[in-house]
Amino acid sequence: MLAIGVDVGGTSVRAGVVDERGALLDTSRVGTPGDELALEDAITGVVEELRNRHEVGAVGLAVAAFVRPDLRSVMFAPHLAWRAAPVADRIAKRVGLPVRLEHDANAATVAEHRFGAARGARVVSLIAIGTGIGAGLLLDGDLFRGGHGVAPELGHLCVLPGGRACSCGKYGCWERYCSGTALAATAVELLARHPGRSTVLAREVAGDPGSVTGRRVAGAARDGDPIAKRAMAELARWLGEGLALVADVYDPEVVVIAGGVSESAPLFLDEAREHYAAAITGAGHRPLARIRTAQLGDETTIVGAATLAREERAVGTG
Ligand SMILES: [Zn+2]
Repeated sequence: MLAIGVDVGGTSVRAGVVDERGALLDTSRVGTPGDELALEDAITGVVEELRNRHEVGAVGLAVAAFVRPDLRSVMFAPHLAWRAAPVADRIAKRVGLPVRLEHDANAATVAEHRFGAARGARVVSLIAIGTGIGAGLLLDGDLFRGGHGVAPELGHLCVLPGGRACSCGKYGCWERYCSGTALAATAVELLARHPGRSTVLAREVAGDPGSVTGRRVAGAARDGDPIAKRAMAELARWLGEGLALVADVYDPEVVVIAGGVSESAPLFLDEAREHYAAAITGAGHRPLARIRTAQLGDETTIVGAATLAREERAVGTG
């Protein structure tokens, strides 16, 4: 059976047809509208478009949102229009197919567990590093959601008390030091403190710190810019330190690093592994998690959403 996975993000709605082996057969994409009805129209639109070309049996929606434990409604989504909205039932009614709703990082975790970097592992932690940090946790093959459906929010673990202000209202959150946004913030700080040391980056941004993005810093680091390389080393340090905290709570066998920043993994992952191994409780006397990058790349969330929808459908009809 084929299923459609839809990744509903803050900037775009991306959908794909996925087979039982996790292969993506076809895709469609539109921009994310700002209001609720238009957003649901957009989702229905991409699903209908793909259905015209393929015989599908279920739809999975992956959303950057708090999802209720019954997996039918969105509680809250900071970057989407929904507030306490019965999204799964609304879309199911419109497309006439079973719809399964899931948090986007959870969907990615399932995709990597079934088909990617975490195949065969029992305890998996996925860290999606992009604008912020999204996290998923799998225990004995099942997603862990906490008591109210909102765990794990690892991006807002405090790694530096009194540190950088976070949009969540707290200070020193992990994602303020380990994300694309953090990479840019660190580079801007370093440029201000060490004027004249940067070559590529300083020339590129020339007086406009707002134009520094994580992607540009990564590019400059690849070109050997000393400030960009230092910003990357800071990210590696905080990734390692944060993973050591995660390991103290979950002791994962495999950590999957996903998200846009993972594309630059060769620039930071080995160093992050060293920081993690040094910072972990009982360092040197316990097994370490295998830290890997996501194998399914950009499509991992779509594949996971479709896979969960297909698995739920199989249980429902079996
Ligand atoms: Zn925070």
